[in-house]
Amino acid sequence: MTDCIFCKIAKGEIPSKKIYEDDEMLAFYDTSPQAPVHFLVIPQTHIENIMEVGVENSPLLGRLLIRAEVLARRLGCEEKGARFVINCKEHGGQTVDHLHIHVLAGRPLGWPPG
Ligand code: 5GP
Ligand code: ZN
Repeated sequence: MTDCIFCKIAKGEIPSKKIYEDDEMLAFYDTSPQAPVHFLVIPQTHIENIMEVGVENSPLLGRLLIRAEVLARRLGCEEKGARFVINCKEHGGQTVDHLHIHVLAGRPLGWPPG
């Protein structure tokens, strides 16, 4: 998708503070962090949201989640834990229409969401 900011980040057209990259995914810090640790894990390919993943891409979704968990551990979140979030569409609070997993940690997070 040519006008998708996360596709542009994946292609290196928009700079990002990368944490991890391979053929199918990328992890980078959120520019507007909501916690001391706040990064995003995205697929390299444009999938709009979790409702568009489908059974065929479910193994990819699993790998994105496990990578998010591994990186959270690596960034020191193992003892206290973290929040793994996927916002979807308007009511889910999604503002960038390219599938992404938020990982937030480093402080206690409230629940339920407002
Ligand atoms: P959403 O609201 O769609 O779940 O999350 C989108 C996230 O992307 C937001 O937390 C926002 O701060 C982050 N974001 C938006 N534009 C950029 C950008 O250009 N670079 C980075 N690193 N994060 C971005
Ligand atoms: Zn995209």
